[in-house]
Amino acid sequence: MEKNDIFNIRIEDMTDEGLGIGHVDGMAVFVKDTAPGDVAEIRIVKVKRSYAFGRLEKLIEASADRVEPSCPVARQCGGCTLQHISYEKELELKSDRVANCLKRIGGIDSPEQYLEGVYGMDEPERYRNKMQFPVSRRDRPEVYGSEKGSMSVFSCKSRTVLGFYAGRTHSLIPIKDCIIGHRVNKYIIDAVIRWADNYKISVYDEKTGEGLLRHVLTRVGFKTGQLMVCIVVSNKKVPYTDKLVAELSRQVDRYKAECSDESFRLRSVVMNINKERTNKILGNETILLNGQDYITDYIGDIKFHISAQSFYQVNPWQTSRLYGKVMEYAGLTGKETVWDMYCGIGTISLFLSKAARKVYGVEIVPQAVSDARDNAALNDIENVEFFVGKAEDVVTNWHEVSGKGHIDVVVVDPPRKGCDEKLLDTIIDMKPDRMIYVSCDPATLARDLKYLIARGMNLEKYSVYDQFSRSMHVETVCLLSK
Ligand code: SAH
Repeated sequence: MEKNDIFNIRIEDMTDEGLGIGHVDGMAVFVKDTAPGDVAEIRIVKVKRSYAFGRLEKLIEASADRVEPSCPVARQCGGCTLQHISYEKELELKSDRVANCLKRIGGIDSPEQYLEGVYGMDEPERYRNKMQFPVSRRDRPEVYGSEKGSMSVFSCKSRTVLGFYAGRTHSLIPIKDCIIGHRVNKYIIDAVIRWADNYKISVYDEKTGEGLLRHVLTRVGFKTGQLMVCIVVSNKKVPYTDKLVAELSRQVDRYKAECSDESFRLRSVVMNINKERTNKILGNETILLNGQDYITDYIGDIKFHISAQSFYQVNPWQTSRLYGKVMEYAGLTGKETVWDMYCGIGTISLFLSKAARKVYGVEIVPQAVSDARDNAALNDIENVEFFVGKAEDVVTNWHEVSGKGHIDVVVVDPPRKGCDEKLLDTIIDMKPDRMIYVSCDPATLARDLKYLIARGMNLEKYSVYDQFSRSMHVETVCLLSK
């Protein structure tokens, strides 16, 4: 097999990254933009020792699960990978991915018997409350998905564009809107482009490190209808920021009228300074341009203050459903002592605190713990206590010092790499009645479950949640018992 060879293949399955998998003479070929069930003509683009990558040239027979992507740049943009697959099939692929890991890595026979439910979104679009658009300039305006005539107001030759990077590169795909984000983004993109073009605001160039405007970040409180717009710039000296605020206000008014969303508010306009030549989007300093420097939102009935830098779940509707499941699995009656490990800004801890006697949270990022404490105070919650440090160290010490007292419920919600073995050993020694494992990576979940089950814990049931439709990311909530 060589680069540029053409083959006809049938797509049999999908990788964890959303690439279709087919075979040529027994060798696996991964092809973007294909769906299981497709028969496709593909061109080989890269050959490795035991596998290859191909590009979809022509669809010969379309899979029954194919749909027309709702986004005009679905194929170019590096964001969504599953736009061309029906949502039903997407949920099936995600659920199968979890079951396969539990079986293959976790050694759990017929995992389906433990599956309680697969919880997709009511509407797999418009779910993200946070967007980060890189900014660039184009000599000839070329904006996908634009309405006719909408660009006629610009007389400049080169034009500012906002968009997303194409997969695995930093080449920018200009966009007018993003269907997984809030509708207001379209108006914000428009406002920033008008401002930058009219006032000749320079755009940051990654190659030279020159130019001002780097990124535009938007955050929306879905429950409160509050909007934050943050421009990320390479230097504090930004001219005409008052004009930016005015243009944003104008466009938000347009959004409110056109989308009949009268109670929506532009609450916060801030400017973040990032002077570093790095891929990190935000710098450390944020300056208020208008309104306040945070927005408010709720998950369930817990209130959060969210600033430009705070961590906050990006899909608040599904998150509150998922936490509802954690709550159900926790089976709290008001007498329990609970540990929430990897607690972030304390979302799960605060959620559970209302039904427990005492909740302890632990998190490695000091700023997140400080936010968690502020969030507890904001909600007048007094029965939670947060610790900064590695869960494996903090909890293990606490367990020793507390004389190995009884813990009713343990929740873990680790990052992709899963839990540290030292922490799992401590949890086993704590003998909680129930353990709830919230996972964003089925492979490390399965590895950790195998470890726990081999040491006497039982898998009772699990549920699969879709928090990130149109990508292969999947969340799993497991209930284990002693
Ligand atoms: N439960 C939280 C967020 C979980 S994300 C929520 O629902 O919002 C995983 C968190 O684990 C991150 O905040 C990360 O900073 C933290 N983390 C990573 N390694 C850790 C460790 N060894 N000990 C404690 N926290 C850790």
